[in-house]
Amino acid sequence: MEGDEIMSKNIEDKQYLVRFKAAKESHLTVMDHDVCMTKCPDKICTIFCPAEVYKWENIRMHVGYEGCHECGSCRIGCPHQNIKWEYPQGGHGVVFRLA
Ligand code: SF4
Ligand code: SF4
Repeated sequence: MEGDEIMSKNIEDKQYLVRFKAAKESHLTVMDHDVCMTKCPDKICTIFCPAEVYKWENIRMHVGYEGCHECGSCRIGCPHQNIKWEYPQGGHGVVFRLA
């Protein structure tokens, strides 16, 4: 059955069903890179983000917003409230398909 097929897909299969329509401007902003550098030794957004949007690059946080799944975790996960989070511009962002 179709539903069973969907349930039996592994995470890699499901990732293939995710599509993105990236906006020109990021809907995610790291407010202060110095906070990341000096107050967040574990850079935990690089760990908890399921889409690996955040990558620490020597002195600043690179934000690959184009691949964001819009799960909202970084709204609450940053211990310093250092991420400004908005929905992508209308008509842009992630598209989840079931098959
Ligand atoms: S969790 Fe917040 S403070 Fe820590 S590295 Fe990420 S954006 Fe910076
Ligand atoms: S909303 Fe979710 S997927 Fe997008 S950057 Fe934040 S933690 Fe990552």
